[in-house]
Amino acid sequence: MSEDLFLKIIKREIPAEIIFENDRVLAFRDINPQAPLHVLVIPKQHIRTINDITPEQDAVLGEMFRAAAQIATAEGYRDEGYRVVMNCGERAGQSVFHIHLHLLAGRDLGWPPG
Ligand code: AMP
Repeated sequence: MSEDLFLKIIKREIPAEIIFENDRVLAFRDINPQAPLHVLVIPKQHIRTINDITPEQDAVLGEMFRAAAQIATAEGYRDEGYRVVMNCGERAGQSVFHIHLHLLAGRDLGWPPG
C-alpha cells in the first residue's frame, strides 16, 4: 500500500468519510471496517511508525487519543467501551506507513487480539 496514502486523504486527493479535523489531527472511517465503529485517527504531519516519534511530536499523540475519546463519545460508545490500537511494523499488521490509531467499538472485542 502506498507510503503516503493518508497524506492524500489529508490533501483531499482521494476521498474519505472525514468525521473529525483540527489543525493537527484528522479522523475518517476505515474503508474496511472491522467493527460497527472503525475510525482511523491520524496526525496531519507524516510520522512513519511508532519508532519514528520524536519528543517534539508528543503533543500530537495526546491529541490523537483525545480525538478518539471525543469521537467514541459522539458515536455513543463512551460508556460501553471501545478499543484504540496502533500497529507498528509489518508483522504487527501495519500496512499504511503513516501512524494511525484504530478506534473500534460496537461489538465484543476479544483479548488477546489476533
Ligand atoms: P494498518 O493495517 O494498521 O496499517 O491499518 C491500515 C488501515 O487503513 C486498514 O484498516 C485499512 O482498511 C485502512 N485503509 C486503507 N485504505 C484506506 C482508505 N482509502 N480509506 C480509509 N481507510 C483505508
